[in-house]
Amino acid sequence: MRAYYKTIITYQVLHEDPIPDDTCLGDIVEMCDSGPCVGNLKKWETKTVDGETMAKLLTEARSDPSFFDIDCNGRDLSDIEAMRATEPEDECPLCHNGTVEHCSREDGEWAICRGECGAAVPLEDDDD
Ligand SMILES: [Zn+2]
Repeated sequence: MRAYYKTIITYQVLHEDPIPDDTCLGDIVEMCDSGPCVGNLKKWETKTVDGETMAKLLTEARSDPSFFDIDCNGRDLSDIEAMRATEPEDECPLCHNGTVEHCSREDGEWAICRGECGAAVPLEDDDD
């Protein structure tokens, strides 16, 4: 299982003149390192997040889940490809402890691990 982390940093900036609120973080650090401001790292908080949460956080940060090679549900893109490459009754390529079943559902054809991991992957690209 992959791990993902979210870190929130609180950086206090002391200055005499107002700083425009669209100043980028790199410029703020520069102003504190060699400019008219003093910076002080106040808080550093790291949490682990699951893949689904990371997919949402990436979208919220104006990036994309594919930045970490996951889909919008947090599923690893290489895991999805491995499951899609299976034939029915193949060994599960993810947990190697069970067989893969292909089945028809209302929302299309799925490859589902009937073993340890229980991974379920649509066999065709969904449009999300
Ligand atoms: Zn499995």
